[in-house]
Amino acid sequence: MKIKKSVFYYTDEVVEEIAQVGFDPLFGARPLKRAIQRYIEDPISNLIIAEKVEKGDVIKIRVENHELIFDVEKTVFVKMNIQKYQCQECQITFEQEIIANSTVICPKCGKNNVKIININEKKEEENQEKLKNTQENINNKTEKENKEEETKDIREKIDDQFQKENINNSLKQEKNENQQSVSASS
Ligand SMILES: [Zn+2]
Repeated sequence: MKIKKSVFYYTDEVVEEIAQVGFDPLFGARPLKRAIQRYIEDPISNLIIAEKVEKGDVIKIRVENHELIFDVEKTVFVKMNIQKYQCQECQITFEQEIIANSTVICPKCGKNNVKIININEKKEEENQEKLKNTQENINNKTEKENKEEETKDIREKIDDQFQKENINNSLKQEKNENQQSVSASS
């Protein structure tokens, strides 16, 4: 059950209150069990069902005017203030928490000649680099395509020329053969 994963604390007054409503010399422990269920378990269950308690939250139960009060302490994740640095001596980049009035030193070479790197600036640089690469690729492609087209043109011209000569040659050959046959018949 979810309830077991949540932590809850209660004051001594809570125990006293529960004991008062749950104690019955005639029935012994049974009414106490029921009282705990009614005054502790049910309200916590309701808080969980209403999503007022999440995993990791702490429920604190206290008594006010003979009433049980359930305070929910939310778990807050503290985001550390991290800054990225680059060492100007050995060029390594590293991240460190910002601590007021402290000198940032390079974890590799121990020198304090470090420069703050703006993460957005770095992203911008990366984007520019990507854009440049893409542009270069396009340029390379067109250059390659141009070369291919040029080669294709030359090929076509050679082919044309070759074909023409072939035709000329075969025409010449045919002419010769005709001449030969003519001379043979005479
Ligand atoms: Zn360094």
